[in-house]
Amino acid sequence: THSVIHSFASLFLSLDTAHLVCIQLSLVERDQIIIHWMYVYSQWEEVSIMDEKNIPIRTYQVCNVLEPNQNNWLRTDWIPRSGAQRVYVEVKFTLRDCNSLPGVTGTCKETFNLYYHESNEDKDSYIKESSFIKVDTVAADESFTQVDVGDRIMKLNTEVRDVKVTNRKGFYLAFQDVGACIALVSVRVFYKTCPLTVRNLATFPDTVTGADTSSLVEVRGSCVNQSEEKEEPKMYCGADGEWLVPIGGCLCNPGYEEKGAACKACSVGFYKAKSTDTGCSKCPPHSHSLREGATVCDCHSGFFRADSDPFSMACTQPPSAPQQLISVVNETSVVLEWAPPRRLGGRSDTSYSLECLICQTGSQLCLPCGSDVLFAPGQTGLKTTRVVVSELRAHTHYTFIIHARNGVSQASGAGAAQSVSVTVTTNQAAPSPVSAIQASDVTRHSLLLSWQQPDRPNGVILEYEVKFYEKDQRERSYRIMRTFSRSVDVTGLNPLTVYVFHVRARTAAGYGEFSAPFEFSTNSDPFPLIGEGVNSAFLLLSISGVGILLLISAAVFIIRVKIYVDPFTYEDPDQAIHEFAKEIDVSSIHIERVIGMGEFGEVCSGRLRVQGKREIYVAIKSLKAGYSDKQRRDFLSEASIMGQFDHPNIIRLEGVVTRCKPLMIITEYMENGSLDAFLRKHDGQFTVIQLVGMLRGIASGMKYLSDMSYVHRDLAARNILVNSNLVCKVSDFGLSRVLEDDPEAAYTTRIPIRWTAPEAISYRKFTTASDVWSYGIVMWEVVSYGERPYWDMNNQDVIKAIEEGYRLPAPMDCPVVLHQLMLDCWERERAERPTFSQILNMLDKLIRNPGTLRRTGGDRYTLKVCVSVVPEVCVPEWSVCVWLQSIGLERYRDTLAAAGYTSLENLLALTHQ
Ligand code: AMP
Repeated sequence: THSVIHSFASLFLSLDTAHLVCIQLSLVERDQIIIHWMYVYSQWEEVSIMDEKNIPIRTYQVCNVLEPNQNNWLRTDWIPRSGAQRVYVEVKFTLRDCNSLPGVTGTCKETFNLYYHESNEDKDSYIKESSFIKVDTVAADESFTQVDVGDRIMKLNTEVRDVKVTNRKGFYLAFQDVGACIALVSVRVFYKTCPLTVRNLATFPDTVTGADTSSLVEVRGSCVNQSEEKEEPKMYCGADGEWLVPIGGCLCNPGYEEKGAACKACSVGFYKAKSTDTGCSKCPPHSHSLREGATVCDCHSGFFRADSDPFSMACTQPPSAPQQLISVVNETSVVLEWAPPRRLGGRSDTSYSLECLICQTGSQLCLPCGSDVLFAPGQTGLKTTRVVVSELRAHTHYTFIIHARNGVSQASGAGAAQSVSVTVTTNQAAPSPVSAIQASDVTRHSLLLSWQQPDRPNGVILEYEVKFYEKDQRERSYRIMRTFSRSVDVTGLNPLTVYVFHVRARTAAGYGEFSAPFEFSTNSDPFPLIGEGVNSAFLLLSISGVGILLLISAAVFIIRVKIYVDPFTYEDPDQAIHEFAKEIDVSSIHIERVIGMGEFGEVCSGRLRVQGKREIYVAIKSLKAGYSDKQRRDFLSEASIMGQFDHPNIIRLEGVVTRCKPLMIITEYMENGSLDAFLRKHDGQFTVIQLVGMLRGIASGMKYLSDMSYVHRDLAARNILVNSNLVCKVSDFGLSRVLEDDPEAAYTTRIPIRWTAPEAISYRKFTTASDVWSYGIVMWEVVSYGERPYWDMNNQDVIKAIEEGYRLPAPMDCPVVLHQLMLDCWERERAERPTFSQILNMLDKLIRNPGTLRRTGGDRYTLKVCVSVVPEVCVPEWSVCVWLQSIGLERYRDTLAAAGYTSLENLLALTHQ
């Protein structure tokens, strides 16, 4: 109708008529028509249209469907890449269905092409079409044929294409129309990232996906706060922005636990010790944590944790003392048994250790037991509650302390409170078997049998018993011999007969076990040979006649009398040292501590392990650096001398170190050090028999030295060393050369005046007899427990007093016989002094008859000369006078003088009566 047409006219007038292509009116019903129209744009045009919500939007449209060979381009602005490697282009567009357009057959298209071009800069100018690379031809999923008037919703197509852009900083996109009717509604360009995420307590940053659709970007995560890496955290960012394949991760630090992808501190009362622990745990019993984030719970006061205890374990306490300690003495062994402590402190690792102390009678003084005591099953770390202690000394007081410990004893600093002790006295015990039996001087009818003292004499050996019989006879008939020495001449034997010998020792506690059988055969000749194994040789030689035998006997005689060789007679001192001393490899010596100071440097104790032998304790003397040739010679000379001796009462040389520095002399270790200091430390603590036992040892060593024609020249208690068994050994062979026999020598002052015989002081006549004099002084030192001979008199007064006949008085409680022996040693005439052999016999006799030692001189006579200037009144009989004066009894001077006591010598004859 007209009015309708009119409204059309006004509508179309508002449009750009140049582009209007066609209008199609369709009569629907009598009063309804549908009007279709279309515009034709020969280029892309920017056109405003209404979207589905009636909001105007801008679009680009082209619709040149009537003409062939269309090539219309629409290009975007330069798009910066921003790190993207693959971009996605989402195009929303509408496309007109060619069929719906009448008269466009052949020219109308239903696709357009998408292009891109990479570029580093925003050129803004014309870019050749040929520089664009085609991404794809885009077709519509939904083309529209008509628009329903009642339904204005456009059929919008959405197509997405992706393209790799890795070469330049940015790119352009372009849309090529080849003759379609399109409206580009929107173009969205985007790239994908895998978003920031936390996986396994590691943070992974927002990550741009890779360039290819199949590429994975490897990303390393970083541990969240308060966490540490368990294994390097890694994930892959997939092309579609998904995180893939998480590897590794982190663990919350000690004191923190995982809560919602973060690490949170443990609350008060909780702890986490290790990062690998799953979470915070409640504090174990007897412990607490007062602050958040605890890695360990502190023990309540009085409770402890051992280093090896896990933190999850309850805090514990040291044990209380062991209970009900019982001791059973069996000769020289003690069995100790006890019950476990009442309180174990919450632990199951209680162990016991045993302390062994030797205590002197009537004194509080206790010393640790020596290393020769045996503990079975052990002394420390005991899990059982029973120990057998053996190899103790006979008739000695011991205190045993059992300590109970557990893992927290050390941490708690607990000591004596956890121990229990018992004091026992061992019984007398028989000596251990003798060893090293040897036969020598073998003839047809006799031989000389000798042996070593038992390892554990357990007292003074009173005698040895030798039992022997012909091997063929077995023990059907045997003979017994008894002797006080360590050898016996066995006579009355049958020639060429094998004999079996057994030896045992006797002490006050009875006989010890017999030694293992020792077999030896007599030979067919009346002349003796020495040593084992010479029998067969001897048999052969006996055939060769008496002459040869005589020669051999003479040779044997020469061998037997072993004489000490002065190392200074060697031109090369090293030759002497290597002849007499064994070179020790320094690596087998383990030095432990300094025990004294010698003339040439420190003396240390330590251990020596020679291959094939058990480890022994040794003393190590070293020569301090910067020594002269002479000092080296003097130092080593002691070893050269010592190395020639082999006797139980002479300090044994283990060897020397001369091939590397410092030079060392290694000797056996004497636990109790030098005799003088030892006696002073234990004043009054030994029985007379024990003291005589010590003196006997020294005399035996000196007899050996004198038999070897060695003159010691410095015999004094300070040069005697004492081991843990109270065995005394002569040492210090250093001084002998210092005192050369030159009366003009300048070192007179080095003569130990108080110990030296008058003839040695006045004209250096050093002989075994002068050693005997010194021995008498040592006897006095021993019996007076280390008193200084002649007290604080000066040397000159000592020389003068001796010259006048004064001799040291008997020390307190000194048996008369012993003092008499001392006086014998101090005979002015050296020939009148006893020999060491006689001294030894005498002492043996005393030991066998302890009754003879009982008589002492009564009160102690203290002779103490406190004035070195002789007062006028005392001249000429100064000695008695000075003595009386010094003890405040000078009022008796005339009384004594009237009775004829004018010299100290005859004063000594004064009896108690
Ligand atoms: P000397 O140089 O021999 O007088 O030794 C100095 C000190 O070292 C001595 O007084 C002892 O105390 C100590 N001493 C020396 N040799 C030994 C040893 N074999 N065993 C223990 N102590 C020793």
